[in-house]
Amino acid sequence: MHQIHFQGRALTPSKIICVGRNYVAHIHELGNPIPEQMVVFCKPNSAIGAQLKAYRDEPIHYETEMCFLIQAQQLAGIGIGLDLTKRTLQAQLKSKGLPWERAKAFDGAAVFSPFVALPDSLDGLRLCLHIDGRLAQQGELQHMIYSPQTILAAVSSWMHLETGDVLMTGTPSGVGPLQAGSHYTAALYNADHLLIEHSWTAI
Ligand code: ZN
Repeated sequence: MHQIHFQGRALTPSKIICVGRNYVAHIHELGNPIPEQMVVFCKPNSAIGAQLKAYRDEPIHYETEMCFLIQAQQLAGIGIGLDLTKRTLQAQLKSKGLPWERAKAFDGAAVFSPFVALPDSLDGLRLCLHIDGRLAQQGELQHMIYSPQTILAAVSSWMHLETGDVLMTGTPSGVGPLQAGSHYTAALYNADHLLIEHSWTAI
């Protein structure tokens, strides 16, 4: 089983719960309607990867997301991660009304920074992604349609969350294909205070 790291301790998520379409600008970017209900999908433990692979049967797209670690059914830690997506395949599945697992739950479909303790207030949280030093994505918690606490309450009402499980809270606009050899640096700030920065090089 794959592990994530929280304050130096290894945890084994049973699943990753992802929210789609949580930032209005990204919904418009992909030409999707504003959802009437929260869009939720899962990645299994086997989707957690160590390497960022730019190509798996087709070009892989990055989505930078604030990630929340669950402990005792509560939000306990925060990290930054990439929800990796086979965008062409996802578009085909979506157009047919089929499940997204082939496009979202493949091996290596999620990479994570280490997790740190949740700050006292989440209101000032914002993320950014730089690709080879160029700002590609930025998003603020204040611009989410569903807050992490709302997602936790909604998902917990129908799915038991285990300690170690991770919530991925959706991506802001600026998604795109990975390029082998490029450097992806994701950072999470609480107001002006840097909480986490993590880099991957796509292969
Ligand atoms: Zn996503």
